[in-house]
Amino acid sequence: MIEILITGGGYGGIAAAKKLSKALKKRKDLNITIIDKKPFHTLMTELHEIAGHRTEPDSVRIPYAKIFGVSKVKVVIDTVLSIDFNKKQVQSATKSYCYDYLIVGTGAQPNFFGIHGIQENAFTLWSFDDALKLRHHVENAFEKGIAEPNRVKHTRLLTFVIAGAGFTGIELAGELFEWRDTICEKWRTPRNEVRIIIVEAMADILPTFDAELRADVEYYLKKHGVEVLTSTFITGAEAGIVHLKDGSTIETETFIWTAGVDGSAFADSLELSKGPFGKETDQDKKNRRGRLLVNQEMRSVDYPEVYAVGDTIWFTENNKPLPQIVETALQTGETAADNIIAAIQKTKAKAFKPNYHGIMVSVGARYAVSNAMGIKLKGFLAQCMKHMVNLHYLIGIAGINQCWEYIKHEFLDIRTQRSCVYGFGSYKNRGYWLLPLRLWVGLVWVFEGINKIGEGWLSWEAGTKSNWMFSSGVEQAGIRQLDYTEAVTAASDAAEAVEEVVTAASGAAEVVEEVVTAASDAVEAAAEAVGAALPDFHTIWDFTKPIVDINGGLATWFRTTFMDGMMAYIPFQVFQLMIVAVEIGVGLMMIGGLFTWIAALISIGLCLVFTVSGMFEWNKVWFIFTGFLLMGGAGRAFGLDCWVIPAIKKWWNGTRFARKTYLYFDDPSR
Ligand SMILES: Cc1cc2nc3c(=O)[nH]c(=O)nc-3n(C[C@H](O)[C@H](O)[C@H](O)COP(=O)(O)OP(=O)(O)OC[C@H]3O[C@@H](n4cnc5c(N)ncnc54)[C@H](O)[C@@H]3O)c2cc1C
Repeated sequence: MIEILITGGGYGGIAAAKKLSKALKKRKDLNITIIDKKPFHTLMTELHEIAGHRTEPDSVRIPYAKIFGVSKVKVVIDTVLSIDFNKKQVQSATKSYCYDYLIVGTGAQPNFFGIHGIQENAFTLWSFDDALKLRHHVENAFEKGIAEPNRVKHTRLLTFVIAGAGFTGIELAGELFEWRDTICEKWRTPRNEVRIIIVEAMADILPTFDAELRADVEYYLKKHGVEVLTSTFITGAEAGIVHLKDGSTIETETFIWTAGVDGSAFADSLELSKGPFGKETDQDKKNRRGRLLVNQEMRSVDYPEVYAVGDTIWFTENNKPLPQIVETALQTGETAADNIIAAIQKTKAKAFKPNYHGIMVSVGARYAVSNAMGIKLKGFLAQCMKHMVNLHYLIGIAGINQCWEYIKHEFLDIRTQRSCVYGFGSYKNRGYWLLPLRLWVGLVWVFEGINKIGEGWLSWEAGTKSNWMFSSGVEQAGIRQLDYTEAVTAASDAAEAVEEVVTAASGAAEVVEEVVTAASDAVEAAAEAVGAALPDFHTIWDFTKPIVDINGGLATWFRTTFMDGMMAYIPFQVFQLMIVAVEIGVGLMMIGGLFTWIAALISIGLCLVFTVSGMFEWNKVWFIFTGFLLMGGAGRAFGLDCWVIPAIKKWWNGTRFARKTYLYFDDPSR
């Protein structure tokens, strides 16, 4: 068996695993395993939203079970502690894992540049746990600070210092000022009592953007009360105090370090060459940055079967190290996978060719700047672009279901209007408000069905009751042909008798006719007089008219092509029974709140059939819309759907089909 092991299920590890499993899915002689310390893939690029209380923690966690569904990739939750490259073994606290090919993709961690007191006193934002810790701390600091009577402590608690004006620092500042606004509004605290300060050692924020976009971001931040201190060097920190190079200090309970990124301590501990120094000397060890040196095949320079990807590598292109960003992780992951496939299939190895599409940064939920594929955007459009990029990534790794989850987290479940469309679409109705409507609609359908029984729909001897839906003269399957002879003879005798009576009455009729003509003239004259005296009323839209004219094109088409054709094959008894049963069934489902979604859909469907048959009037349209309303979970409150639907979803989400297509109901992890 060939064992391919990937340590780290980040962007790089997942890209590699997906590519490997797709290319090698028919090979029964190999295993692909990811080892990660968490059971979920973290969307690192959205961590600031968790830290800043915009979205819920689940919005950045995608369970590996969901990503790999039924694929060849096996995921093991374990923390790798060391790797023995000679024995080809990966070691955790309790187990060892053998490999023939290894990909190291364990990501990066913050770099504190050895500045005194930073590591001990600063929060970081480089993992899911960091984001959650920061979120709880900031919430606590706000609440304590607002209630703190001592002015010095009050100010210290409400001062938030972010070191670094790169992507992470700016995105976090954007989230914090939005959160500040909602908290200040809630507790009636003046906004200017809360300080959010960005401290940046360089002369500018966001060095990878051009001057115009940088200036826009700085203006936007300042407009929202964020202090931006550029060319300001932090020289150290202690509990509650940040020291600046000019000798001044800032007192704060919340100091967040986003100013540097490194390789990782784990990569650093591996007996592999690191960049930028290659094989380490003692001096190098002091400066080492924990990034593994790889060649253009993403292969370690020390062992041919070991590859590394993403933030953890050191590889230079045009004398510059690759940026530690998602596109690097994805592309290096794919290159490593390509080259493992090439090694297994004994084909030519591929060299890494970076292909970057652009950069973007959000400043809170409603503003962003982007420079992608040669197009510069700012504000709403840039924010939309960022969402599109995220959706593109999500559909690739976990399908349409994960995109829907994203839309829910970012727009539909947002609580404090913190999205680029504010609260549009996020308001939620409580299910119990729909209960009376659901019961009423159910009752209407039950009585529609029962009335039909009363009208003789199930008395077959009387012939078809449903012929209002068909063209006259259409032969329907199963209908009994009546013998009309006796009726015709009787009718003709009656007609003769009537004729005699009419002749006799004709003389008298002439006299009556004259009287009637005189009376009718008088009535006409009176009507004209009344008409002249009254204002003229016009009905602009007659709601009692059918929506579709019964003799018009659509109704005729529906009747002749669909209903007539169908009725040639289905006995009318079956059809009538079906209509009665469906109406009563839908009604009962509504009343019991069982499969309400399906019942509401059928209710809408029946109304549409009646509409195209030319029998549904404008004043009944509301009934169609009740169907849409009831589809939104009306059976979950005081209905059987409360128990039945979760059970069905659980069963469905476990099926191979759902796992293969990612067509899950909701998030299967919940
Ligand atoms: C707040 C923030 C915002 C960012 N914004 C952007 C952005 O807007 N655009 C952009 O392109 N980039 C952004 N980045 C950078 C981007 O997130 C990284 O470049 C990317 O995550 C690197 O992917 P990776 O696969 O190398 O590592 P990661 O995604 O970090 O994954 C590493 C994985 O390894 C696992 N792991 C680590 N050690 C071990 C171990 N010993 N044993 C087992 N498992 C282990 C971890 O659990 C993790 O799942 C941002 C980063 C942060 C922190």
